[in-house]
Amino acid sequence: MISISERIHNIQQQIASTARSSQTVQILAVSKGQTREAILQAYAAGIRDFGESYLQEALPKIASLATLPLTWHFLGPIQSNKTKAIAAHFSWVHSVSRLQIAERLNQQRPLTLPPLNICIQINLDGEATKSGIQPTEALALAQSIQQLPHLKLRGLMCIPQKISATTKQYDIFLQLYYLQQQLNQQLELSLDTLSMGMSDDFTIALQAGSTLIRLGQAIFGQRPS
Ligand SMILES: *Cc1c(COP(=O)(O)O)cnc(C)c1O
Repeated sequence: MISISERIHNIQQQIASTARSSQTVQILAVSKGQTREAILQAYAAGIRDFGESYLQEALPKIASLATLPLTWHFLGPIQSNKTKAIAAHFSWVHSVSRLQIAERLNQQRPLTLPPLNICIQINLDGEATKSGIQPTEALALAQSIQQLPHLKLRGLMCIPQKISATTKQYDIFLQLYYLQQQLNQQLELSLDTLSMGMSDDFTIALQAGSTLIRLGQAIFGQRPS
């Protein structure tokens, strides 16, 4: 069986052969459903950023690994009653799609910690999925989040539906790339993070300008159910 460190090595080679030389690419290991032991193996292979989607599952893992220099990213849907713990235990939140949630994260971010890094989740599938805001709503939300002192707006995130046609998938990722360029120009921002691409489509996302790929099964193998 292929090990976690071999998988990470293979991914790094794929990144090197796909990304442009000027493109910085960060690997986020999505550790939902994975054991502490699997996380330690990824850590030993050099991974420092880990992503979780379910708060209840994440909190005990984060606590049990607190002595290691890990950066935790929250990726899942956010209910209002979860914002306090998310603001206290994570460094990044990729799934912000409502101002009310951003305002709560801002209020609840402990002052002893640096600002919470934020990506706005964009829905590129139109009516087909409910998560994320429409691209046309991004400018207003970005402008409002910019005003919140304990948040640092870093970029955009998407989870597009799986499409088998590679060119179509590329076009969808490219929409997020252009939306980020547009926000940077119109709001004079310097958003530097495009959180797009998962295990099945990260090379396509990289071609479209992704700077952060969120990999679960490509690193850890099939998720235990
Ligand atoms: C689970 C998850 C991933 C990782 O999915 P894989 O297909 O295992 O790479 C990435 N992003 C989000 C938001 C997820 O929920």
